[in-house]
Amino acid sequence: MNNMENRTYKKKKRAISPAVLIAAACAIVLAIVLIVLLFVMLGNGETGGEISQVSTSSSEVSSSSEASSSSEASSSNESSSMAEPVDKPAESQVVDVGGYTLDANYERLILVNSSNPLPEDYDYKGNLATIEKKYLNGELTQIDKDILPYLLALVNSAWEDGVKVYIRSPFRSYETQKMLFDNKVQRVISAGTPADKAEDEAATVVARPGTSEHHTGLAVDFNTASNYFEGTDMDLWLREHAEDFGFILRYPKESQDITGVIYEPWHYRFVGINVAKEINRLGVTLEEYIEMKK
Ligand SMILES: [Zn+2]
Repeated sequence: MNNMENRTYKKKKRAISPAVLIAAACAIVLAIVLIVLLFVMLGNGETGGEISQVSTSSSEVSSSSEASSSSEASSSNESSSMAEPVDKPAESQVVDVGGYTLDANYERLILVNSSNPLPEDYDYKGNLATIEKKYLNGELTQIDKDILPYLLALVNSAWEDGVKVYIRSPFRSYETQKMLFDNKVQRVISAGTPADKAEDEAATVVARPGTSEHHTGLAVDFNTASNYFEGTDMDLWLREHAEDFGFILRYPKESQDITGVIYEPWHYRFVGINVAKEINRLGVTLEEYIEMKK
């Protein structure tokens, strides 16, 4: 009985097998068509992904020095319109000065003056390093950490030449600048300037809080912030050599109309070695240089 049933079952199974085969064949053909379709769709998707990836990497190029992503972008014809490099980064140019290995192409061009105050949410303490005491000649001790090697190379070189350059005033907080400015306003009033004009007059000598370059950690006053500095061996040495370390005399004589600040032979600003040399060659202020580069 069991055998019979088995046989019947097997027979039945065999009887419907051609239909199953046809159905299976159809299913296989359908599956192949679906797989092919899927591959075509995936292929398109990948291309789209590549385009957006390339455009992303090209925007990264402006802030990173990796050349690979820019060559990727230029080699892809499809995406060339989307991936034009905005601001191609300069490759690093290594130079050895003052016992330090520095990048001559490294630059910091932020413009801070009375018409370009720092934004209200500016992070005043974002990127600071402390300068060793032996280089200092004042209470303030901090500087932007990325330019610290350039500054130390400068001071060490001056010392090697027998010129006693010291860092008087590097980074200043908003509060310190406010205190300096308020004090200056009081002195200006004491000297006879009407109170309603005192702030404007004070601002030609001491920047209003938020508008001082010292907030950036990129500016340094050397030795003594007074007229006694002019003509000293420090002054003469800095005029000749500061550019080799990326610093410019920020407020030259007869540039007050452009900078809004009196002549300050002691105030230097880091911009970058090659930029400093170009600015000096052109004989322009940072304001004019940035305008030229727009
Ligand atoms: Zn200064």
